[in-house]
Amino acid sequence: MSDTRQRTAAQILAEYDGPHLRIMEVCGTHTHENFRLGIRSLLPPQVDLISGPGCPVCVTPVDFIDEAIWLAEHGVTITTFGDLVRVPGTEKNLADARANGARVQVVYSPIDALQYAREHADEQVCFLSVGFETTVPAACLAVDQAREEGVENFSLLVANKTMPNAYAALKGSADVFLYPGHVHAITGTKLCEDLVEQGVSGVLAGFTAKELLTAMAVALAKAQEGKPFFVNAYPRVVKPEGTPAAVALIEKVMEPCDTEWRGLGAIPQSGLRLREEYAAHDARKKYGMPEIHGRANPACRCGNVLRGEITPSECPLFGKVCTPLHPVGACMVSGEGACSAFYQYGGSLS
Ligand code: SF4
Repeated sequence: MSDTRQRTAAQILAEYDGPHLRIMEVCGTHTHENFRLGIRSLLPPQVDLISGPGCPVCVTPVDFIDEAIWLAEHGVTITTFGDLVRVPGTEKNLADARANGARVQVVYSPIDALQYAREHADEQVCFLSVGFETTVPAACLAVDQAREEGVENFSLLVANKTMPNAYAALKGSADVFLYPGHVHAITGTKLCEDLVEQGVSGVLAGFTAKELLTAMAVALAKAQEGKPFFVNAYPRVVKPEGTPAAVALIEKVMEPCDTEWRGLGAIPQSGLRLREEYAAHDARKKYGMPEIHGRANPACRCGNVLRGEITPSECPLFGKVCTPLHPVGACMVSGEGACSAFYQYGGSLS
């Protein structure tokens, strides 16, 4: 008999007596917020939160860091979000390159990087473009403006990724996906609805305590019904159609390509690259970069963490050799990384 009582989200969590459930926080910000807001401590013991690949810095492979260092050591000014400066490359990170004389500028957006290029016409300026559908439009806008204005000293080194084929690659690794609200604010909800047809369940979640608690309660209540489901629990921001203008801008400037994800390997058509019309602003082409293959520290278990196979505290280096001050892998560097969240909030094995 179905339960028709009006219950609060907290009551639904407290009264859950269903089967063991693995909920994947696809987005790194959800991992941090679930810790910070104390949501984890409200979950019943049968529910495990596992981390997913939604931290852009974490899934960016070592090759990309080595490419950025190659550019920096060939006289190009690197402009980037702060996190990437400390991500280990094969032999060093961008902070080491800067200490050796390379120019590495931290910026807050690709538009800031473009402005830096305008103001420093004597420098070659490259912005490190990482991130998912959420951040891609700003990079596209910057490079499109650079082309229109003829800012020839501005380029992008692109490692942007898109979620659809990543979800497909992750199928079966969790019972419920906690979908990243900001990605779907751009792409809309059709993909999540299509995944239900393939047996994949998920809830689209926002980022406040109320939104996350609601999303968890919805996940638990729907999971007990025993059939695949999708619920948009972030309707104030995510509309079914997404943001068509942003999608159109991405399609104008970039095209899909195969790409490598740290931890997940190569996923066909899950990356983006600049279209040929923007080749003059594509750092790999503009500076004749050779193919660079990096090598991650073999002791780092970021890959297992990003696939939800282990929790960060199950990595032997966690908190001993690897700390936010001395990170061994990307997941300990980024503000969205699962290892950094576990370290910051004292996460244990659950
Ligand atoms: S704790 Fe450090 S070494 Fe271990 S998986 Fe996380 S980032 Fe890698």
